[in-house]
Amino acid sequence: MTITLAIGVARMAQRHAIIRKLPAVETLGSTTVICSDKTGTLTQNEMTVQEIYAEGETFAVSGIGYAPEGILTQADAEIQPKDHPALVECLRAGLLCNDSRLNATHEGWRIEGDPTEAALITVARKAGLDRSIEEQAYPRMDTIPFESEHQYMATLHGGEGTPRLVYVKGSAEAILPRCHNVYQSADQRTEVDESAIHREVDEMAAKGLRVLAFACASVAPDLGDITHDSVAQGLTFIGLQGMIDPARTEAIDAVRACQRAGIKVKMITGDHVGTAAAIGRKIGLAGTEGTYGKTIAISGREIEALSDQELIGVADRTPVFARVAPEQKLRLVKALQARGHVVAMTGDGVNDGPALRQSDIGIAMGITGTEVAKEAADMVLTDDNFATIAAAVEEGRGVYDNILKFIVWTLPTNASLGLIILVSLFFNVPLPVLPLQVLWVNTTTVVFLGTMLAFEVKEPGLMQRSPRPPRTPLLKRSSVQRVLWVGIFLCAAAFTVYGLERVDNETVATARTAAVNTIVFGEIFLLFACRSLRVSMFELGIFSNPLLWLGVVIMTVAQLLFTYAPLMNRIFRTAAIGGGEWTVILLSSLLLYLLFELDKWLRRRRAERSKV
Ligand code: ADP
Ligand code: MG
Repeated sequence: MTITLAIGVARMAQRHAIIRKLPAVETLGSTTVICSDKTGTLTQNEMTVQEIYAEGETFAVSGIGYAPEGILTQADAEIQPKDHPALVECLRAGLLCNDSRLNATHEGWRIEGDPTEAALITVARKAGLDRSIEEQAYPRMDTIPFESEHQYMATLHGGEGTPRLVYVKGSAEAILPRCHNVYQSADQRTEVDESAIHREVDEMAAKGLRVLAFACASVAPDLGDITHDSVAQGLTFIGLQGMIDPARTEAIDAVRACQRAGIKVKMITGDHVGTAAAIGRKIGLAGTEGTYGKTIAISGREIEALSDQELIGVADRTPVFARVAPEQKLRLVKALQARGHVVAMTGDGVNDGPALRQSDIGIAMGITGTEVAKEAADMVLTDDNFATIAAAVEEGRGVYDNILKFIVWTLPTNASLGLIILVSLFFNVPLPVLPLQVLWVNTTTVVFLGTMLAFEVKEPGLMQRSPRPPRTPLLKRSSVQRVLWVGIFLCAAAFTVYGLERVDNETVATARTAAVNTIVFGEIFLLFACRSLRVSMFELGIFSNPLLWLGVVIMTVAQLLFTYAPLMNRIFRTAAIGGGEWTVILLSSLLLYLLFELDKWLRRRRAERSKV
């Protein structure tokens, strides 16, 4: 089992998923819900500002990506930014209240830092603002860095003898309540119309744009540093910038693959409800009307109002959760688990640790994730991509399949050997297989035959099945039945061959050798049948697992030595057998193979009938 899990780890690593805890491989295969971050995991995390709202007007920005090539328009006509002071101030705020860099390299424009901030640099350059000139005019003195909990960032600017100025940027919900007027031009302010601004935010969000709000304030000339208190009120609202973050195309396919595999996909994000819902719809999380009702997204504030008991149903139904705080992630995981789900959950921040630890599979981001998140996770994605989670689930299912195949193969062979000894003792007849021979069969077949099942490739249709119900035992009734009848078959075959030999007046040694070969070749044929517990090996491709064939060849050679090499004859008290014996041995093995195929066919038919 460890080998099978380890092979799973290697296969997942090839598909960009690093497993930190071995049992996670198996758990992944039973995942019923995947909760994923939005930004960077389901989307490309390549932001471009497309809309700006300032002085009560909307402006559009052309161009895509970080290259500062594009123009600003209003009602499809190009504008000169300098004619719109609030627009310029909004862009300046984005440029100065910013901790990221945009560099021109041979391979194009590269960013350093947060894509959200890089987009603000790009759009400011499109409008002709020069960062170094702006930074000289307004040198930065202090910073409140961005944190998810606060949803904003603030910077203090000014120099010797110049007026002090604060710029703030963040979510509209965080900025607007702090504003008491609106920027029109350098010396003009107007009233705040909160509902009009929120309407604008909702409109941008409904298009799937990520919306940032900007504000400024002039402060006392002797202020040297800023705290959360200094920006708690009295700000001047400047405007909004809406940026697009296209969905990853491979994420759209992966979401569909998961849904086909009976796995629910949920998006959990800190972003605005409208933006989250729009992106959710784009990647196929909306579901059909009625499955999730009309509301497909709920916000952290609504979650807060729910009791743990109420949350269970809501968490199960809702595909998109927006403006979610890290503590709420933990509540969501618990609610889903209370419904009996096996939950895989992504996280990247320091505060995601508890939720990652609580989930059945904690997934950290390899590129953007913090060390804390990685420490808490069971799995790390080296490419931060949702599609990788789906791939890992698929591999996990394959691993579980292979473990089951090994068990259904190995238990009956062990059972048969035990039965043989039990029956001989009970009826007081000579042992058809000696203890030392049992030891030989046990060690060689597990190594050369059983282990090779770990290398079976994934079966077709793996991601079309529904997840196995959580907490089903490894050995279901169907597997136990198989173990029993195969075990009895092999035991009976060994006794029969032994008895036939003795009736034919062969020596005890010859009869035992024939009996041992009956079991071993029975195991070889059973191995081919167990390559899939559902379909025949011809559907898998006869040579799709070359290692299995290698194992069979080695095992056959070993049996020939066991039967014919004088040294082995002496050690194991075996003797040469002839063509007649081989015919019987192969016929009985073939019968076992056919019976097992019949067993699979009957179960397949029953499964299809119960579906209809
Ligand atoms: P997510 O990345 O899932 O949207 P975050 O918690 O990172 O969640 O962001 C929450 C909100 O904070 C965003 O929707 C945005 O409005 C705002 N925000 C994000 N990044 C920054 C930043 N660098 N500076 C200021 N505000 C930001
Ligand atoms: Mg973020």
